Amino acid sequence: MHSGSPLGPYGALRNPELPASAATEATLRARSSDKCELCSAAPSAGVQEVAHSPESGAEACVLLCTTCAAQIDGQAELEPKHWFCLQEAIWSEVPAVQVTSWRLLHKLREQTWAHDLLEQAYLSDEVLSWAKAGQDEDGEEARIPTVDSNGTPLLDGDSVTLIKNLDVKGANFTAKQGTVVKNIRLTDNPEHVDGRVNKVAIVLKTCFLKKVSERS
Ligand SMILES: [Zn+2]
Repeated sequence: MHSGSPLGPYGALRNPELPASAATEATLRARSSDKCELCSAAPSAGVQEVAHSPESGAEACVLLCTTCAAQIDGQAELEPKHWFCLQEAIWSEVPAVQVTSWRLLHKLREQTWAHDLLEQAYLSDEVLSWAKAGQDEDGEEARIPTVDSNGTPLLDGDSVTLIKNLDVKGANFTAKQGTVVKNIRLTDNPEHVDGRVNKVAIVLKTCFLKKVSERS
């Protein structure tokens, strides 16, 4: 199981522990004629590692433009129209591009064209199992669970207590140890939950929380 790296929802992501080497980047720029490997736009945002790759180096990476990268990272909403480019990208000869395209089409499969394209797409067994790696039945990236300081899983609606005083940046108060925060909400980051203290919405680090009760 993947751990440590901040996986976004689509599984084709930067892995900060494995910065693209200059050699990898040069290989990718040559492979792609220095264009985004999904939509052919330029200039490219850079190299992204495709999660769960059986390969390493350039074989495990794609070169993306900023538009594609932001949507894959989850920093921007998926815009179905932008992804019409997958009608070409899915036929790429590069497995990392096939895998990234397949995962995106899977996310977009409620769109008829994406659904049809997924049916037509041909990926070798090896590439298909890479594409499916780490994805649950709904095609979501397997999530790193959000847990409190004791390792107890946290869910939306739980109540937690603070196990130390926390200075709330920007709000000019200290949330005292022992404060109960009701009805927390999970975030995309397993180390952060949203909650309200003194009626102020704040982000709480899970390592300073202890679960007190289930959602009632
Ligand atoms: Zn692009």
